[in-house]
Amino acid sequence: MNDSLYPTHQSAAEVAKRQNTDLRKGLTAQQARRRLARYGRNLIARGKPISAWEIILRQVRNIIVVLLLTAAGISFFLGEILEGLAVLAVVVLNTLFGFITEYRAEKSVESLQQMVKTTAKVLRGGRLRQIAAEEVVAGDILVLEEGDLVTADGRLFEADNLAVDESLLTGESTPSGKTVEPIRGEVPLAECRNMVFMGTAVTRGNGAAVVVATGTATEVGKISDMLATTKEEPSPLEERLERTGRFLVVLTLAITAVVSGTGILGGRPWAEMLKTGIALAIAAVPEGLPAVATVTLAIGMWRMARHRALVKSLPAVETLGSTTVICTDKTGTLTENQMTLQDIALPDRHIRVEGTGYAPTGRFWEGEKPLDSAADETLRDFLRAGALCSNASLSETQGQWSLIGDPTEGALVTAACKAGLEREALTAAGWQRRDELPFDSDLRYMAVRCATPEKGEVIYLKGAPDVVLGMCRSIRQNSGEAPLDESLKASICRENSRLAAEGLRVLGLARKTSPPTGPLSETILSGMTFLGLAGILDPPRPDVADAIGMARAAGIRTIMLTGDQADTALAIARRVGIGSPDESVTSGLELAHMTVPELTARLRICSVYARISPRNKLDIIAALNADNQITAMTGDGVNDAPALKRADIGVAMGQRGTSVARQAADMVLLDDRFATILEAVRQGRVIFDNIHKFIHYLFSCNLSEILVIFLCILMGLPTPLVALQILWLNLVTDVFPALAMGFEAPETDVMTRPPRNPAQGLITTRFKLRIGAEGLFITLGPLVAFAVTVQQGLSLPQCRTVAFMTLAVGQLLHVFNVRRKNGLGFDASLSKAPYLWGAFSLTLVLQLLAVYTPALQRILHTTGLNRDMWIITLMGAAAPVLLMQLWAVMRRLRFSPAK
Ligand code: ADP
Ligand code: MG
Repeated sequence: MNDSLYPTHQSAAEVAKRQNTDLRKGLTAQQARRRLARYGRNLIARGKPISAWEIILRQVRNIIVVLLLTAAGISFFLGEILEGLAVLAVVVLNTLFGFITEYRAEKSVESLQQMVKTTAKVLRGGRLRQIAAEEVVAGDILVLEEGDLVTADGRLFEADNLAVDESLLTGESTPSGKTVEPIRGEVPLAECRNMVFMGTAVTRGNGAAVVVATGTATEVGKISDMLATTKEEPSPLEERLERTGRFLVVLTLAITAVVSGTGILGGRPWAEMLKTGIALAIAAVPEGLPAVATVTLAIGMWRMARHRALVKSLPAVETLGSTTVICTDKTGTLTENQMTLQDIALPDRHIRVEGTGYAPTGRFWEGEKPLDSAADETLRDFLRAGALCSNASLSETQGQWSLIGDPTEGALVTAACKAGLEREALTAAGWQRRDELPFDSDLRYMAVRCATPEKGEVIYLKGAPDVVLGMCRSIRQNSGEAPLDESLKASICRENSRLAAEGLRVLGLARKTSPPTGPLSETILSGMTFLGLAGILDPPRPDVADAIGMARAAGIRTIMLTGDQADTALAIARRVGIGSPDESVTSGLELAHMTVPELTARLRICSVYARISPRNKLDIIAALNADNQITAMTGDGVNDAPALKRADIGVAMGQRGTSVARQAADMVLLDDRFATILEAVRQGRVIFDNIHKFIHYLFSCNLSEILVIFLCILMGLPTPLVALQILWLNLVTDVFPALAMGFEAPETDVMTRPPRNPAQGLITTRFKLRIGAEGLFITLGPLVAFAVTVQQGLSLPQCRTVAFMTLAVGQLLHVFNVRRKNGLGFDASLSKAPYLWGAFSLTLVLQLLAVYTPALQRILHTTGLNRDMWIITLMGAAAPVLLMQLWAVMRRLRFSPAK
């Protein structure tokens, strides 16, 4: 029904007039500012945010809460009103706390995602500018190229081989080709071939459009309510916690049955047994666990963000820690992506170009002689071809030159500028672009058709040397054009190898004068004239070699997947230390013929892959998956999106990457550096360790609570703790130390041990045994203390207070058994654990309040402690920890090699 609103039938000029804009210059800065103020930012309400209610419900549904509510019900039933109310209060507080933490975690995820803002390229005041997508206004001239997300609805007036993936709006998965011609009559959205729409992605080609609608006025804005957020799957961690929760319920019921059974058979009153049952149920459940887990993951995300790695979901934080293979591209991740044309190999001539970066200053040297670039026609032909066959442009602000576009092309454009061949100057002199066959990683070349002042139309081609050479029949020499015979071909190939072996990226340039008319296509790109080779320097980043060494020490393999040629790939791989010194290269072509098992086998021994297309990447991921590897894979182009989605951790580049790749990825590197991936892995491992630690801590504490009750009943003693004391332990004594575990300093071996076995769950048999043994140890203290005080004839509340205090202090000290993997918690790292000390003191103070303040004494049924009680308490609390420390030391001595 809105179809008539599309300006599909109008000419682009009419649309421009309506929008009061200029197709070649765009809006002025002032116009843009005014329109932005008047019509608002270009934003749509992003998919429904998770509502507060949903989060609350999730908490309430939680199995733990059900258990507690039952306990409260039974308390009321038995007339223990105060106890019932207190349990209810705990449920409310717990829900509230859980809600707040989840809500804040959710919010921080959102605000982190905000940091990877989409940008748009627009013409403003006659210049190409990159602006935040939300600043686009109607009338802006949107410039589009492969990999861009369309940031507003617009009417196209330029479309070079342009195709856009509009599945978001039309459900049509094949990209739709675009034109600029007006369309007669009204057409449905899917047939608006001269329009582009916000939220869709350019899969190929270039184009330019006049923006006609922004924000909620766009097509996607109108349907944004319908684009409900996809249902989030529970993370592996959440699932495991959920399963543990269920296990705990079953365990509690079983224990309660046994205890009550024995109790009632032993002739105890059933009401007392029921109360004991409640106490047990409460004891079994680590009430603080979900909140602690969420908080720890959220903190992990922030830490990674501080290291310029933006993780898009909480589960990814966890997965990162178990990465076993990193597949990285070369250009820009391992290298600086600061490309400089350094060597030009013209037929029988070597020319060196001075200067670095994108500043267009520097001379040309042939041997020891500087060249007069204004007079050297062969050189000028070569440079002109590079400049015309590129879309990059340079800009200068305060003497600093920077690049908009592809750095490879930037190198060619800069070199041309050094000879005075700026794009504007060329255009003014009659060299005008007519048509383009855009660069494509699968084709590995790009071509343009240009009008020239003397030779009529000329096609320029640039691309991988072998591909370009394959299309050439002649060669441009100083003396003119000559046929390209085998010996000339061989010498060009030698030249290519020589440049590549220096680690240079090599491109071939060619042209074709008097080509057939008609649109550019692969078929007319033959019989071309070879102009020369460009050797482009892109130095490895200085920190990459270290990072790769670090990955190796951590048992993580680094594999290079590059679109570049074998020699260059190998030269760079050697320089940064990928693979072995006598590493070989596998090419994408070879790879395409391999079966999955063959590829798996190859991947185990070979670490450098050249001439890799985005399709190859998918095969490689499949093969690595089949080999049970956890793969992090980098990518930047649109075609990389499937591989980024398929990889366990898809890594997109924040600067160089296309918006499409960034959307598909699990993690975005804000600085594009390889080393950042490793930093993220390190953080992931630390976080996993810490989650493991607090789960260890909480479970062993809970177990000790169950055991102490269970054993007392078996021994014919009264119930040693009342329900509320146990709740206090779980919510006060346990939570703060557990949170502190989430902040524990990294283990010394985080990056020197092999990755965690992904097939192995969080809770292994060994881990269970350890928790079991430790639970038993901690139990012994309060058990003996309770038995002794009962023996001494103290009142029951006094005995319980001693048991309560002994258990609380014992659990608190248990932190030192858990905080280091080797069990030796009293080490130098203690001085760097402020959170631990904070939690420790806070808990102690609260625990003293619990036994000394009248209000808490009433609720918790506690009494103060006299000197003798204190002595028993402290001995009972310290003994288990000392025993466990002793045990850890002995284990360490037994296992460490004899000196
Ligand atoms: P990578 O950037 O890892 O080398 P790509 O798939 O981007 O991989 O490029 C593959 C090959 O295509 C490059 O090695 C180079 O020879 C060629 N190439 C790269 N960029 C361009 C471009 N803008 N125009 C023409 N050819 C290019
Ligand atoms: Mg590239």
